[in-house]
Amino acid sequence: MFYEGKIFRPPSEAKSIILQITVGCRHNACTFCTMYKDKSFRIKSRTEIHEIIAIAQAQDSDAERIFLADGDAIAVDNSLLIEILDQLYKKFPRLKRVGIYGGPKDILAKSPEELAELKTHGLTIVYLGVESGNEGILSSVCKGVTALEMIEAGQKVKSSGLTLSCTVIIGLGGKAHSHEHATDTAQVISKIDPEYLGALTLMLEPEAPLTKAIKNGSFQILTPFESLSELRTLLSELKVSNCVFRSNHASNYLPLRATLPQDRNALLQTLDSVIDNQTLERLRPDYWRGL
Ligand code: SF4
Repeated sequence: MFYEGKIFRPPSEAKSIILQITVGCRHNACTFCTMYKDKSFRIKSRTEIHEIIAIAQAQDSDAERIFLADGDAIAVDNSLLIEILDQLYKKFPRLKRVGIYGGPKDILAKSPEELAELKTHGLTIVYLGVESGNEGILSSVCKGVTALEMIEAGQKVKSSGLTLSCTVIIGLGGKAHSHEHATDTAQVISKIDPEYLGALTLMLEPEAPLTKAIKNGSFQILTPFESLSELRTLLSELKVSNCVFRSNHASNYLPLRATLPQDRNALLQTLDSVIDNQTLERLRPDYWRGL
């Protein structure tokens, strides 16, 4: 498959065909993110999209999962997205799910009816980067939406019947705002109540704007055990109805998996035991961590 630039996908889409229907991220302004800084956002033409669908079909017509990239493919106009989804289910007879990254601004730009229409045509799961629920942090990292707008975007996806997977970034408030980052993020995620929640731990490329703040001393990155304590606070305050939580992304120090709320106590006990005993050998070493 031919791709423009580097391709990113959520860990749970490891077995999916990645179909690049857009290039880059329309927002492309978050100060911690360098994923698409070398790309100008564009939606591929119908012709290009039909070509890559044909290539993917030739490679694996038995595929059961497809992920629509790049960073904000939900920005594609509904009529084209529906055409793509219909084509995919026609060309891949065993297809069971189609996933997509959805930036909050582009989710908000769609009406509830448009999102429900995408669900009817086979879009299955939307991945939303919430990152933080704290107003000050969202603004300082240039996420482009307020906490209330983030809640609205998440709730909109959920009420359309689509499955929602949210991600948050442990350490995004640095040492100075660790507590409010954890508690406000727990509040926002509780209000959204997603089916899946993934935690990443802040890692920065040298060219990320936030790296400059570390260099000039205005942002202090958390230690591994401070990151776990922040995650513990977040999980202890989370009120979700039925959510699969994972910290299996390569950036994390401790891979965890649980269904909340039922596994909360076991999860907190695991975290307490690692934090209290400062069990370094349980943690992924820094040289194994990755973005
Ligand atoms: S919206 Fe997502 S992909 Fe785009 S710049 Fe922000 S974190 Fe990166």
